[in-house]
Amino acid sequence: MERIAIFPGSFDPITLGHQSIVMRALPLFDKVIIAIGDNTEKRCKYTLEQRMEWIEKTFEGIPNIEVDIYNELTVDYCKRKNAKYIIRGLRNAIDFQYEQNIAQINSELDSEIETVFLLTELRYTNINSSVVREILKFGGDVKKYLPENIREFF
Ligand code: ADP
Repeated sequence: MERIAIFPGSFDPITLGHQSIVMRALPLFDKVIIAIGDNTEKRCKYTLEQRMEWIEKTFEGIPNIEVDIYNELTVDYCKRKNAKYIIRGLRNAIDFQYEQNIAQINSELDSEIETVFLLTELRYTNINSSVVREILKFGGDVKKYLPENIREFF
């Protein structure tokens, strides 16, 4: 059976931190689906289409990656996509506390789905989408935080 993993998130926008997690997850699974949550509670700066385009561009030409948008419980989405694994990145203890809660709830909702955590690479610990958005707001240069393929758009 194919080992399919979902990497859910907002990707507002995708950063080097996200890219690194996906690249490190790839050898562990047959396919990684990067799934943008269409979450009405979280107001995003960029549209779903824009975020999706940047993710596709980031991983252009790399096999076994799919990019998608979902609007349902993550475990229901996993079932629909035949995925048994959810990938999440951990940067620090705050991430851990938040992620532990979500992973345990997801496991209660569907005990067949396993959340797999990958620790961030040291150099990406302080990179996240909100830092990028904040720098952009004040006209700063964010290129060094973004995947090479999408730097030209910022
Ligand atoms: P969410 O709204 O689900 O937190 P994000 O796009 O902020 O969406 O994050 C998606 C996933 O990527 C999360 O598991 C998050 O921990 C991980 N992530 C984000 N930035 C980094 C980073 N610099 N290093 C490792 N993982 C990261």
